Amino acid sequence: MYCWLMSIFLRVFSIFSLLVLMTATHSSAQENKPALVVVGGSDSPFLLERDSTLPFFTSKASEVVSIIESRIEKTTTALTDLATTFESIRLRQEMIKQSLDDVAEILLEQIEEAEKILVNRAEELENIEESDKENLRENKRKSENVEAIMKVINSKEWVCPVSDTVKFYDSWNEQRPRSIHRGVDIVGFHGANLYAPVDGEVTFFWDSVGGKSFKLTNENGDYYFGTHLYRFGKKSGDVSAGDVIGQLGAGGNATGPHLHFEFHPGPEGRGNGVNPYQIVNRHCTDRIPIDMPLNHYDGEEREKYSFSYGNLEWD
Ligand SMILES: [Zn+2]
Repeated sequence: MYCWLMSIFLRVFSIFSLLVLMTATHSSAQENKPALVVVGGSDSPFLLERDSTLPFFTSKASEVVSIIESRIEKTTTALTDLATTFESIRLRQEMIKQSLDDVAEILLEQIEEAEKILVNRAEELENIEESDKENLRENKRKSENVEAIMKVINSKEWVCPVSDTVKFYDSWNEQRPRSIHRGVDIVGFHGANLYAPVDGEVTFFWDSVGGKSFKLTNENGDYYFGTHLYRFGKKSGDVSAGDVIGQLGAGGNATGPHLHFEFHPGPEGRGNGVNPYQIVNRHCTDRIPIDMPLNHYDGEEREKYSFSYGNLEWD
């Protein structure tokens, strides 16, 4: 109740004081303008003295306008800047896209080039692989051959294919009138027994170059060939090491009595000929130097001659 009364009183007092003010300043105010102006909405109007307060509001309002104008200007500038920035970003993105396209094209070209190189390289590799494979097969064959030769050299059962005194030298790969020499020539007495060097199956046949010949195949595939025979053995087929398989002669194109002897290690056997010199050198112990006549029985006389030991090439 008190508050409500106080509020009424204050409102009455304020209207009263404004009226007093209006009366007091009336004489100095301009004739055609009211001294008081109404400010605010019609629902809650209040009066202001024109001369003292309006310029303040006007100046404030113009300040506000100028601030707003400046804001608008700044905002416009900022927006323009933003647009410029966006445009520059867009241009940059376009440039990036273009350079990416260029890069992609270059990459594509390079990939195509790389693919071509790869294809060529793959073809080369295939060829290299083929030749490598061939080399490996050849090396394998050689090492297997060396192994086979060592096995035969060290065999206790192996028998020298020619009886009695013999002489020979390493004539592997010697150039002969018709071809390259692929065996060892074991010179011996005419009619000397020829022995099967190992167990195996022996076959006798006529060779157009060497005349009467034998071939003997061991169960492991080792293949032996002998030619220039004087006579074939009495039986062909299965024989044991040391069985007589013929007599030594000078048949075919031979210039003197000797056995042309070949060794072709298994499992390849025939066609895989190797130098048999070291095998014969080990197992044919009744041997005299090549340039000594066979009928020299005197040991001292034999020592005047020197042996040739051939080379260690296996093929
Ligand atoms: Zn020969």
